[in-house]
Amino acid sequence: MRAILFGPPGAGKGTQAKRLVDLYGIPQLSTGDMLREHVKNQSPLGLKVDAVMKSGGLVSDDIVIQMIEERTQRTDCKNGFLLDGFPRTITQGQALNAMLAAKGQQIDVVVGIDCPDDVVRDRAVFRRSCPQCGAIYHLQSLPPQVSDTCDRCGKIGLIHRPDDTLEAVNKRLNKFHGETAPLTSLYGAILKRVDGTKSPDDVTASIRSILDPLAASSS
Ligand SMILES: [Zn+2]
Repeated sequence: MRAILFGPPGAGKGTQAKRLVDLYGIPQLSTGDMLREHVKNQSPLGLKVDAVMKSGGLVSDDIVIQMIEERTQRTDCKNGFLLDGFPRTITQGQALNAMLAAKGQQIDVVVGIDCPDDVVRDRAVFRRSCPQCGAIYHLQSLPPQVSDTCDRCGKIGLIHRPDDTLEAVNKRLNKFHGETAPLTSLYGAILKRVDGTKSPDDVTASIRSILDPLAASSS
């Protein structure tokens, strides 16, 4: 099963991706991890990436697609893979489709986690985390029992991450709507939407109702 998790930043893709990896035994492919690994190993692609990054440039879609192609040929991808955070543009989506088609493969399903902008904003703006143990709070729906104090470890002084400010969230949302959301036009009937405003467990259940039949038929 070759799957893509799709949705706005803050819809909970990361949380769901971890669960799906465990449920279906397929790896989550992160382009960030791949880039770091290639640079670290000084592979031919890694040397190219290193040169681009040192010159302050952006790694081209072409290099990223080559990395994904190489990654998907490893044995842990024999039952498929899960992409989360790629593709981000129509051009990347088309390049991914072309790369797979050349090998007689295709993306089987795109799970779109729907989450309205105001919910994404609300989650970020009211999110606080504990700098000591990593516990996450929401000032309205999951506040700490004592103001500004971690329930789990007692640390005083919860943190609001700089990328969770209204300004930063709006910037990510604008980019998503401008560049990424139009990708849905590439996927037609294989795009399945779930309601990302529900609890993480409910979202997982919705995703399973889509992926379980596919996993059963591809094994
Ligand atoms: Zn804590």
